[in-house]
Amino acid sequence: MTLSEIILRASDAQRPWAANPIARSAALSNLAKTFTAHRDQLVDLMVDEVYKPITEARGEFARAVAILEYFSQAVLDPDGTSIPTTDPNFILSLRRPYGVAGLITPWNFPVAIPIWKAAPALAMGNAVVIKPSEFATKTALFLQELMEKVLPQGIFTVVPGDAEVGAQLVNSADIISFTGSAKVGQSVVARTASLGKPVQAEMGGHSPAIVLPDADLELLASQIQIGAFSYSGQKCTATRRIIIVGDEKRKAEVVETLVASAEKLVGGDPRDEKTFLGPLIHSDSYKNYAEAIALAKQVGKVIAGGKIDATGGNLPSATLTDSIPVEHQLMCEEVFAPIAHVARVSTTDEAISLANAVRYGLTASIHTSDLEASLRISRRLETGMVKVNGPTAGVDFHAPFGGDKDSSYGMREQGKASLDFYTHTQTITLNSGARKFQ
Ligand code: NAD
Repeated sequence: MTLSEIILRASDAQRPWAANPIARSAALSNLAKTFTAHRDQLVDLMVDEVYKPITEARGEFARAVAILEYFSQAVLDPDGTSIPTTDPNFILSLRRPYGVAGLITPWNFPVAIPIWKAAPALAMGNAVVIKPSEFATKTALFLQELMEKVLPQGIFTVVPGDAEVGAQLVNSADIISFTGSAKVGQSVVARTASLGKPVQAEMGGHSPAIVLPDADLELLASQIQIGAFSYSGQKCTATRRIIIVGDEKRKAEVVETLVASAEKLVGGDPRDEKTFLGPLIHSDSYKNYAEAIALAKQVGKVIAGGKIDATGGNLPSATLTDSIPVEHQLMCEEVFAPIAHVARVSTTDEAISLANAVRYGLTASIHTSDLEASLRISRRLETGMVKVNGPTAGVDFHAPFGGDKDSSYGMREQGKASLDFYTHTQTITLNSGARKFQ
């Protein structure tokens, strides 16, 4: 089938789908059950195709099921409001689906991201055509297989392919949701907007962790392990900079704890439950990791990890650097690998300035037991999300997800916010038959 035929088939299927919210709610609920029945296959695919460590793959799977369950109920939420007008007339403002939602997704969450886009799109009565990353095609095709067990034909279709297929989808779908790199995302946004269609894009990040002088070091180490190094740093929300507030003595204490904790992390086969870091997604990505380490050694210091895998297995190590000049590209641009840069400042004001000194604004973390300080700092951070005493990576599946600045464009994903994105508002004025216009 050509993409035009797929879009036509999706449009035809979408009308009856949109007309029956009770059936949509039941279908999404059945999907959650169908996914649960195929848990091991989906988890295996994530491990085999994108090298996600098995414990993380299980977590991603659980998130996808929770999202399906959440949106199966959200279908039945009120879909509009009544606006006051002269009795006995009515004005209704109703949310309506756009038609065919075109979803373009990356490889790093090959189940959760397609589902967190598709579930609200489907819930609100759209059909979905999805262009997955070329590095996660098998997982996407299995998602389609599961969807086809429950959904009417044509409502959910995967179109595998490269950038060219993504570009064609932008041209032909009614609304576009993109997740991926900032470079590609900006071009997708520009093209979609030029066609007059709604678009949202979730892109890269360079997230800071601000460590205040009172932060508990053991807790901090556990939060940085997940924030900076889980899934080998291949998360848009990964911690890339660790900004320590305090004097040199405090910095030495923090660094000693973080280095010890990073060096404990086990790299290896993602199928092994003990593995914390699996291989990077491909050799180009590994090249970026190796180049970043070489650069860090030139302009600063590598204080943990920094090992290069001579076997060709693309296995990185949990890496910390120090003394990289703050304006250097390493401190500003995303390298999709487990590398975090340590910097010291003397005051919280300096920490906030440094945290904000990048073009990205996805998420940030603050580590402290001082509630007042965490609130004050949160308000001044130019990020879409802030975690206090938690890893930068990971936000509950029903909370709005998205960033500021070059990290995101358009409306938020997840939770109720996503229902707004996949619908537009129609205002219907109902006049009594007795009303005479003069
Ligand atoms: P990518 O930008 O290379 O690709 C993303 C998708 O866009 C793929 O499906 C790709 O085939 C497609 N694509 C490429 N060129 C296109 C074009 N011209 N038109 C239409 N589609 C096109 O990203 P990736 O390597 O798959 O993923 C890693 C990136 O994703 C990182 O930068 C990461 O930060 C980001 N990411 C962001 C979030 C978020 O929610 N903010 C989540 C996960 C990943």
